[in-house]
Amino acid sequence: MKIICIGRNYAEHAKEMNAPLPASPVFFMKPDTAVLKNGGAFYYPEFTKDLHYECELVVRIEKAGKHISTQFAHKYYTHVSLGIDFTARDLQQECKEKGLPWEIAKSFEHSAPLSDNWICKDDLELSNCSFMLRKNGEIVQTGNTSDMIFSIDEIISYISQFMTLKTGDLIFTGTPSGVGPVKIGDHLTGALNGQDMFTFDIK
Ligand code: MG
Repeated sequence: MKIICIGRNYAEHAKEMNAPLPASPVFFMKPDTAVLKNGGAFYYPEFTKDLHYECELVVRIEKAGKHISTQFAHKYYTHVSLGIDFTARDLQQECKEKGLPWEIAKSFEHSAPLSDNWICKDDLELSNCSFMLRKNGEIVQTGNTSDMIFSIDEIISYISQFMTLKTGDLIFTGTPSGVGPVKIGDHLTGALNGQDMFTFDIK
């Protein structure tokens, strides 16, 4: 199983990162060891002093495919969920400045906390899903899939031009604006269309 994450898929987030809007999806990967199951303890890593949450809609691939056209991409997934793309912002900034890959900032152990609640896409209006992240009970991030620059189908089509997507692969579809830091003792809760999806403690 692989995890593919989309960067800069919401214009307001690109703006807050002082990044230009992408002409095609930007993606990077996390290993399967990045997954942290709902309720698991996340231990603040020693290598960063600026760990940020990025709450994101997650898509699970249900069928292997490559060179998938946007038109048929909907056949390759049935369920979506919610997760966090944890980012060591200080390391990422260093990588960006040096033109280096982002893996040390993005792909570390448990950098992909994930709900174990998967919602059938037929039960949602996929192009109009609202989601939010609360930190210690306070809303810190809200997003709506209608603000995505590239749709889920466009993302799947694009990625599959470069690599085969396999059953069980996860796609983190990008974060809206409002990213920010966490510290030890914080409690994160994510909700999709008003339904709580995950809770994690930072230890
Ligand atoms: Mg992200």
